[in-house]
Amino acid sequence: MKTTRIAIHGAAGRMGRAVIQAALAMDGIKLVAAIDRQDNPELGEDVGSVVGQADVGVSVGYSIDPAAEPFEVLVDFTQPEATLSALELCRANKKAMVIGTTGFTPAERDIIAAAARDIAICTAANFSIGVNVVLALLGDAARLLGEAYDVEVVEAHHKHKTDAPSGTALAMGEEVAQALGRSLKECAVYGRQGQTGARSRRAIGFATVRGGDVIGDHTVMFLGDGERVEISHKATSRLNFAQGALRAAAWIAGRKPGLYTMQDVLGR
Ligand code: NAD
Repeated sequence: MKTTRIAIHGAAGRMGRAVIQAALAMDGIKLVAAIDRQDNPELGEDVGSVVGQADVGVSVGYSIDPAAEPFEVLVDFTQPEATLSALELCRANKKAMVIGTTGFTPAERDIIAAAARDIAICTAANFSIGVNVVLALLGDAARLLGEAYDVEVVEAHHKHKTDAPSGTALAMGEEVAQALGRSLKECAVYGRQGQTGARSRRAIGFATVRGGDVIGDHTVMFLGDGERVEISHKATSRLNFAQGALRAAAWIAGRKPGLYTMQDVLGR
């Protein structure tokens, strides 16, 4: 079996720890480097002990050295600014990337797309297999239900999440918009307040809930006259995102440059 050597960027974060845990348990994945900010308390600690396991001989560092470190794929769960500086390094050193970070502006997404001319990059707002199945179901539901149903996306996340609506909610909206031949840019409505007037028929609405330790709940509602269809996904552990990201890392290692998604990894 082929082994893919990965580095985790954002190692001390909620997702970083889940990736470490999943990587230590997964056949075909070897974690060779772990990076976080210089001021994080886990700096210098062995990644095994970061996730409450025995030491494995890889400690958390604060700088990525793609030239010296033998990783093939950098798995990134940080924040946009950190992702973009890692992207530059990976591009210069021809290392593939799996980008789990969300909250990029359109201009930042263009920078990632440009880098994908030189290296293989897999991005997904959500690496869970279940969410990616939901994305496929949403396209079918939107096409079958058609224009007579109003579409609203509701998402909930923990109190620490800094971007809204979630990248997954946007990906769900995008899937529906494409199936209905709409541009999400033109039809998205982000939250409502005050005298909003009646709902536009073509709107795709987004509502955001933040609080507690919710890992990630998403519901897309198709609201018709006399009925509504709801398609939901609820994450109960971060491990499913981590396992999906590692599946993407194994898939992307050695691939030609390009911007790939989890749908490519799943062969959809
Ligand atoms: P977190 O705040 O717990 O962790 C982020 C980590 O990145 C922290 O340890 C922080 O110190 C580190 N970091 C920040 N700037 C850095 C820098 N310049 N250099 C090195 N390390 C740096 O956040 P989280 O909950 O783990 O989420 C991280 C990102 O992943 C968010 O954008 C979140 O929305 C996204 N996310 C994506 C998925 C997915 O499936 N795609 C799933 C969950 C979360």
